[in-house]
Amino acid sequence: MIKQLETLIKMQKFDKVIGEKNILTKELPQQLNSLKQSLKNSNEATELTKSELDENLKDQKLRELDIANNNTKITKYKNQLLTIETNKEYKALNSEINHLEKKNSEIDDELIHLMEDESELKKRLDEERETQKKASDELKANEEKLEKEIQEVQKDIEDLKNKRNFLAKDLPRELIRRYGMLIKNKNRKAIVFNDNNACSGCGYTIRPQVAIDIKEGNSIIYCESCGRILVSHL
Ligand SMILES: [Zn+2]
Repeated sequence: MIKQLETLIKMQKFDKVIGEKNILTKELPQQLNSLKQSLKNSNEATELTKSELDENLKDQKLRELDIANNNTKITKYKNQLLTIETNKEYKALNSEINHLEKKNSEIDDELIHLMEDESELKKRLDEERETQKKASDELKANEEKLEKEIQEVQKDIEDLKNKRNFLAKDLPRELIRRYGMLIKNKNRKAIVFNDNNACSGCGYTIRPQVAIDIKEGNSIIYCESCGRILVSHL
């Protein structure tokens, strides 16, 4: 086999690993982002529930204040009742007292609802804090590791490319260009082999004379269908 073919086969071995590592350069940052996103979502959910709980407690305070104010009025009116002289005034004041008492009973119902909500919100907040802690722990445990892996993969790719390019320096420019296009466009397989008289890249039948040429390996033979470079074995 001519040296050019041997060189191309070696280059493809590097390109195979580069291809695998290229996938990692996408996957690893995605993993890291997904951990960061989980924590962010969890933080937001916790903050939202916290502000709902604050709002709920504020509402409860306001209603308690309303009830207290109404009670003060009721006491005052009840004392006034004792000093009232006309029946009409008595009725009016009594009706006002009834109105305030009814109002307080309504506010009390609202308070009960708010307290039920408060207990639900606290339960939810506990669960969300638990999730938040898990997300934070998971990010802490993996962030540094993933960042290191990302850097290492990038460095590995650089090293592999340098090694591949070092091999390529002895090849004609046109051959390097063609090889590069095949790696890029043909699923990172530029060099394929004769697999029972068919191209192992695309399955196209190899003519007997071409098969002999491939076996001799004295020249660069391209598959007549997919254009990949054919060798007898890899
Ligand atoms: Zn082919």
